Amino acid sequence: MINDEEYVHCPVCGTLTAVYDICDHCNWQNTGETNIDGGPNKMTLVEAKQAYAMGEPIK
Ligand SMILES: [Zn+2]
Repeated sequence: MINDEEYVHCPVCGTLTAVYDICDHCNWQNTGETNIDGGPNKMTLVEAKQAYAMGEPIK
């Protein structure tokens, strides 16, 4: 559904995802404009990218 939410490209897999939403494709929780490590994600962004590249689940 398209509404007035802001969307960002997931930093892990590139899927368009609502800001602060969990990516439907890879399960990364977007944290806004910075997508820094920590926040709601147990993995760091680097770990998440590696897991995605290996086809492993992101936590
Ligand atoms: Zn993603």
